[in-house]
Order: sequence, then structure tokens, then C-alpha cells
Amino acid sequence: MSSKIVNKSIKTHEKKDNKNEITNDINRKKLNVTNTLLIIIFSLTVALIISMITIPYIQFKNKDIEINYNTEFNNNDYTAKNLFKNYTKEVIVKDNINNKKIGTYEIEYKLKFGLINIIKKRKVKVIDNIKPDIKLKGNNVEYVCPNKEYIELGYSATDEYDGDLTNKVEIKNYKDNITYKVSDSSGNVSTITRNIKYEDIEKPTITLKGSDNITLYVGNKYNEDGYTATDNCDGDLTNKVKVTNNIDINTPGTYKVTYKVIDNSNNEITKERNITVKKWSIIRPSSGGNGKGIVYLTFDDGPNEGTTNIILDILKEEGVQATFFVTNYGPDYLIKREYDEGHTVALHTASHQYGIVYASVDNYFNDLNQVSNRVERITGEKSMISRFPGGSSNTVSSRYSKGIMTTLTSEVKKRGYHYFDWNVDSGDAAGASIDGVYANVINNISPNRENVVLMHDVKYTTTNALRSIIRYGKQNGYTFKKITYDTVMVTHGVNN
Ligand code: ZN
Repeated sequence: MSSKIVNKSIKTHEKKDNKNEITNDINRKKLNVTNTLLIIIFSLTVALIISMITIPYIQFKNKDIEINYNTEFNNNDYTAKNLFKNYTKEVIVKDNINNKKIGTYEIEYKLKFGLINIIKKRKVKVIDNIKPDIKLKGNNVEYVCPNKEYIELGYSATDEYDGDLTNKVEIKNYKDNITYKVSDSSGNVSTITRNIKYEDIEKPTITLKGSDNITLYVGNKYNEDGYTATDNCDGDLTNKVKVTNNIDINTPGTYKVTYKVIDNSNNEITKERNITVKKWSIIRPSSGGNGKGIVYLTFDDGPNEGTTNIILDILKEEGVQATFFVTNYGPDYLIKREYDEGHTVALHTASHQYGIVYASVDNYFNDLNQVSNRVERITGEKSMISRFPGGSSNTVSSRYSKGIMTTLTSEVKKRGYHYFDWNVDSGDAAGASIDGVYANVINNISPNRENVVLMHDVKYTTTNALRSIIRYGKQNGYTFKKITYDTVMVTHGVNN
């Protein structure tokens, strides 16, 4: 019995071993598969690593590229390299980008590596993201007169890609705002608003007739040359201009005439005219008394070298002041001496040629201005005392211009001149001798009036008679004075 049991037991044991063997076999096979897989994975990994190390790889900094219309695409953000070497320079790039046309383009990067062609691609979009440009004619804030309507001043719209879009501008009015809107073919929208203000913010304009700067001489009258005033909204405002001035015509200085006007919207403008009041050389006080028994020695046609200087010497020695009606002849220094020694430098004529001077009114003043300019240049002061060549009573002028003296005698006064003729003629111009000149003067001066004596400082006879005439006058109670602005004009009757 017991052996049976043992046998049984052995048999059971054998069975068990058999089972184990089968299991081991299966396990061994499994292990083999796993090992093979591991080897394959390992090999692939090694191959991958090797290929990663050895096959160059093309790489971009930016995968998707968008560029704006008309801009250059800087295709330099790619690299091609493996662990050992940089192949970027060997990459061949192919593209069909047209940056003038919106669209999507492809770039191909190709690198030959042994037998392998490594190719990579990416896309470039050319887009338009620039808004159209609207330009308004006029201003963004436009002022319109309160009594007027806004009239569209115009506009234009352009787009870099689409060109002129002016026709596509949509205009909307809302209260006092006008909105201009336009969209380009890529949907970029621009709007601009114009604000209309119904206000008059512009000042009126004052325009002065005549000069902005006027020179007057003491005692002259200021004549307003006129002005106009207009306003952008209110039109002509000339009648509303207020004119004021602070001129003191008796005091040399600078003054202003002020023009002021205010429009209906209270915009005010002022304009000024500058007035300079100058003194005359002749306004300086003369020595001696006033009224009767005065002798005004007047010398025409100079200055003249050899006579005028002797006359000036005598006047100085005798302490007498006189009046010189000068021409454009002779040296400047004698006029300067006349002025410096306190005599009155007055205007006679530049040319002293009747045919020129009396040919026309314009000719007369042209000639007078020339001698006036000379005097002002030499003395620094303008003289407004004059004497007509031949006197205002001359008839010689009728040969050249009928009635001219009638016009001239009133015109010179209008222009502010004081013209003097004479009431004592020394006769020197007619050829009187030294004694004759002396006699003509002393016999014709009167203690009962102001005597204006005509002499010529170009005449040696006058030069030689002068001292005796002065001595006679002093001994007989006469006073010698120069003509000034205050001197009562002594004038002849006009004969032409
Ligand atoms: Zn003369």
C-alpha cells in the first residue's frame, strides 16, 4: 500500500515537472521576442540619433509669414545644419512672391545631402493692411460765416494698393459734423470728420490809401489819404472805421493816426499810419524884431564859388541872417555853410531853364524835387520855402505852358510850400552896377512894411554892394531877418 502511495506521489511529481518545463519554454520564447524588440528599438533609436546628428535639418524662425504689400520679404530667418556643420548657404530657395499683388505664395527650401534631397516649404501671405488716406480740402475745423451755408470744400481718398478711392467716399452729416468714410478692397476703413463752426473768427481788413509813413513839417496840415475796410462775413465796413490821431503839428516828433473797426461778431482790428513831424531849418527863431522895417535879404541862383562865400563872410561879420534860394549848381559846401551859419536855405530851381521848368506842372515839381533833395541831403532837413524862377508874376512861362503859373501858385501852397516873390528889386540880374544895386535897395526899402529884397549871390556887383546896404539899413533902424515859416508871404500877381 505504501509503495503505491509513493508511486502516486512520484507520478504527481513528474506531472508537475512537465508542466514547469512547458511554462519555461513559453517564457523563454517571450524573452526572445522582448529582446528582439528591445534590440530593434535600440537600433532605431541609435539610427535616429545618428540621423539627427548627421542629416541636416532646415528650420525657420517664423513658420507663417505675412508681409505688407510693396514691402520686401527678408528671407534670411532659416538655417540648415546638423550637429557638425551649417549647410544654410547651400540651401536653394525657390519662390514666386509678387509683393505688388495680394495673395498667398509658397517658398521652397532645398538642400542636397548626399543622395537625399531635403525639402521644406512655407507660405508667405502678401496683404494690404494700410488704411486708405482721406485728405480734406480746407480745414478739419472749418469756420463759416453765421449768415452763410457751408459749401463742401472737397476731399480726396487714395489707397496705396487700390489707388484713387475718391468716388467711394461716403459722406454723412450729423449736426455740425461731416464724416467722410472710405474702405479699400482689403477692408481697411478710414474715417475723418470735419467740424463746421458757424462763427466769424476773422478780423476785418483795413487798407490804407497812400503811404503808411508820412512826413510832415511843422505847421503843415495832415490830409487823410483815405482807407477802406472789409470783412469776410459783413462785407464793406469802411463807414464804421473810427479814425483818431494824436498829431501835434507844431511839435516835431512821431505820431500815429489810428484806424479801428469792429465787425458784427466783435472782431476788432486796428491799423496805424505813422506820422513824423519834422522841424524845418527855417523854423529856428531868427534874431530881431517883428513887423515893420524888416529887411529880408534874399539871394537867388547860387551857390557860386567866389561870390556866395564872400557874401557869407560879410553876413557873418555883420551879424545878419539872410535867405538863399538855391539851385543844383555850385558846390555843396556852400549850401552847408549857409545852413550851418543859421541862414535859411530855400528852394529856387534845380535847372533854372524856363523851357524845362515850365513845360508842364509835372516838370515843375520834378525840378523842384531835385533841388529839394539836394538841400535835404546836404542839410538833413527839408525846406518848404520856395521861389519860382522869374517870380510868380513871370510871363516867360506862357511860352511853354499857358496858364501854368495859375496852377502852380495854388498847387505849391496845397503841397505845403510857402513861396516868396519880392517887393524890392536890387536890379543885379538886369546888370545894375555896384552903385546901382546899392541905390535900388536903399531907395526902395520902406520902414512901413516888411521888405523882401531880390538879389543874386552869383553877381559880383551884389557881393560888393552888400556891406554898404547892411550898414545903411542898420543906421536907419531896419532889422535884417531871414525868411521863416512865420514870415508873411510876399507874392506878386500872376500873369500867366
Ligand atoms: Zn533865378
